Amino acid sequence: MSLAEINARIAKAVDKSGRASDAVTLIAVSKVQPHERVVAVLEEGHRIFGENKVQEAASKWPDFRKTYQGIDLHLIGPLQTNKARQAMELADSIHTLDRPKLANTIARLAQELGKCPDLFIQVNTGEEPQKAGVLPEEADQFIAEAQGMDLPIKGLMCIPPVEEEPSLHFALLGKIAERNGLNGLSMGMSSDFETAIALGATHIRVGSAIFGERDYG
Ligand SMILES: *Cc1c(COP(=O)(O)O)cnc(C)c1O
Repeated sequence: MSLAEINARIAKAVDKSGRASDAVTLIAVSKVQPHERVVAVLEEGHRIFGENKVQEAASKWPDFRKTYQGIDLHLIGPLQTNKARQAMELADSIHTLDRPKLANTIARLAQELGKCPDLFIQVNTGEEPQKAGVLPEEADQFIAEAQGMDLPIKGLMCIPPVEEEPSLHFALLGKIAERNGLNGLSMGMSSDFETAIALGATHIRVGSAIFGERDYG
C-alpha cells in the first residue's frame, strides 16, 4: 500500500472517532526494509520513522539525516542499558522504557548529554513472559518513579499479544495513561492501527503496510 493510501486511512479513522486532524502521528517502521524503499518514502516527504535496533538505526539514520532535513527518529525495540547512550544520541524518541535500571541510566546520561529523547513507557498489557514492558499493576508506580527522576515521559506504549483482540489492550493502555495524566499513546501497527486510533492512539507504528513484508532471509 502506498504512503498516501495509509495517510488516507488514518485521516478517515481520525475523522470517524471525532478527533482533531493532527491527533495521530504516523511512525513509518523501516526496520529490515531495503534501502530503496526507505528512500522512496523519504522522497515522498515523510520524515517520521521507527527502528527496532540501535545498531541498525545507527547504520542508516545519521546518513539519511545529512540528506533529508527534519528527520524524527523513534526507537521502538527493547533497549539494553549498555546501548542507552547510543540510543539517546541517535533518536528523538524512545518508546521502550520499561525498568528502573534503564530509567536511572537514561536520567544520568541526560544530565551528561544535556538532552533527552521523549520517552514512552512500555506496558506489557498481555503479561507475556517473553515480552518487555512493566506489568499493568506495576505501571502507576513505575510512571511516578520515572517522573520523579525528571524524565520527559510523553506517554505509554504497548504491543498486544498476537493471538488476542487488540482493542482490549489498547483500552487498558488508555486507562492507565488517563489515570496517570499522560497524553501519549503509542499503539497500533499495520493490522490494527484503525482500532488503535478509535481508542485514542497518538502514535501509530506502521511498517509492512507501507513498505511491504519484511524479508528476514
Ligand atoms: C516491527 C514493529 C512494528 C511494525 O509492525 P508492522 O506489523 O510491520 O506494521 C510496530 N511496532 C513495533 C514495536 C515493531 O517492532
